[in-house]
Amino acid sequence: MNEKSLVLIKPDGVKRGLAGEIISRFEKVGLKIVGMKMVWVDENFAKEHYTEDITKRRGEKVRTNLLKFIKSGPVIAMCVEGIEAIEVIRKIVGETEPKSALPGTIRGDYSHISYGMADKLNKAIENLIHASANKEDAEHEVSLWFAIEELHNYKIAHEEHVF
Ligand code: AMP
Repeated sequence: MNEKSLVLIKPDGVKRGLAGEIISRFEKVGLKIVGMKMVWVDENFAKEHYTEDITKRRGEKVRTNLLKFIKSGPVIAMCVEGIEAIEVIRKIVGETEPKSALPGTIRGDYSHISYGMADKLNKAIENLIHASANKEDAEHEVSLWFAIEELHNYKIAHEEHVF
C-alpha cells in the first residue's frame, strides 16, 4: 500500500514564497519526502512531463500554455511517499481549478483563479502544484524527475509511532 508520488511546486508557488507552507502540509500528515530538488526545466523536459496525453484530455492550446508556464521559472520537485499517497496527496492539493478547490486544500487556501480567467488571458491555470494522478503516472513521473540515487530510504518519526 506504500506509494511514491511526484509533487511539483510550480513556478507560481516558488515565486510567491509558498514552498515552505506547501511542504509542511505534506510533512504534517506524516507523508515522507524521499527526494527533493529545485529544477528549471527546458522545452524538451517539459514535453516529457506534459506528454501528448494532455492534448488528448485538455486540447493543444492548454498543452502549449502549460509548457510555457512550467518553463517560466524554477520548480521544486519532490518525491513523496506514504500509504496510498497518490490519493492522499491529491486530497491535500485540491481541485485543479483554484476557484473550485475547497478551503483547507493547498489550492483552496492559497489561490482562487478560474478556468474562465485562464481562457480569457490565454494562459495555463496557475494552481501551485502538480501531483501524480494515478499509479501509472506516478511511476513514469518519479523516474523522469529522479535518478535512483536521488531517492532516500530512511524512517520518519511518524512510522515509529503510528505503524
Ligand atoms: P491535468 O493534468 O489535466 O490536471 O492538467 C495539467 C495542468 O494543466 C493543470 O494543473 C493546470 O495547470 C492546467 N490546465 C488544465 N486544464 C486547463 C484549462 N482548461 N485551462 C488552463 N489550464 C489548464
